[in-house]
Amino acid sequence: MNKKAKLAALISGAVLLAYAAFPVFAQNSSNDNDIPERDGVYNVPKHPNMKVRVFVHKQKPQSQPSATPAPLACGLDAQDINSQAVTPATPWHLKNGAWNYYLNLGSVPSGIGSANLVMIANNAFATWAATNVGHSVTFNNIGNTTINRKAFDGKNIIAWGRTSQSALAVTYTWYYTATNEVAEEDTIFNKQYPWSWSGSNTDCANPNSYDTQDILTHELGHWMGLDDTYAPAYVNNTMYGYGSRWETKKDTLTDGDISGIAAIYP
Ligand SMILES: [Zn+2]
Repeated sequence: MNKKAKLAALISGAVLLAYAAFPVFAQNSSNDNDIPERDGVYNVPKHPNMKVRVFVHKQKPQSQPSATPAPLACGLDAQDINSQAVTPATPWHLKNGAWNYYLNLGSVPSGIGSANLVMIANNAFATWAATNVGHSVTFNNIGNTTINRKAFDGKNIIAWGRTSQSALAVTYTWYYTATNEVAEEDTIFNKQYPWSWSGSNTDCANPNSYDTQDILTHELGHWMGLDDTYAPAYVNNTMYGYGSRWETKKDTLTDGDISGIAAIYP
């Protein structure tokens, strides 16, 4: 083999290796649309070793307050009441180490302010990091993305985009069935609903819109491995399956949510 042929063989070998190391993201993107936007566990096209779980966070039926405009109000769903009801776990957990996420700042609704999403996400991740999961996992905002739909593409994203009408937000968790380790997470908020942020005030909220930190903290509970709960005993848990306007109680975890995490991350 002459020098040129050797070099060509070396380069093609390196290209093959790179492709073999990241085959999943190269092959799968065209199939992401096949995953339905309904609560459930689905096969991942071309990845028999994986499943994807879809959580649709719905607005609470008959929870619509009057349309009277008001900036911040306290009471009702904004009240933070503790609960001992232990949140059930999903099969999966996060792998030890750094967990990186991207924010789509360009998609943030004007009622929130795009710069505030960095702080909101920081707060929501810190809330979970203060539990047992924080002993083995760290969360890092590693930048902005323009992606606004679910995709198994190696990026964990938080974005506003199109989701079905009744969904406030949809979280997708791809995980390996052999190890139950999470491969990827995406959370897509429904841009058709009114959104706001109560700031550092965790007891009062805007009565006419959904509080971003409230709903995001719930969605991140799915990232950690907690399930939805719909029974009345769980109405004050962060992982209660319905979301309401004028709600900030999911900003803070109940004893039952913390116990649920402790069962996943001893
Ligand atoms: Zn949920």
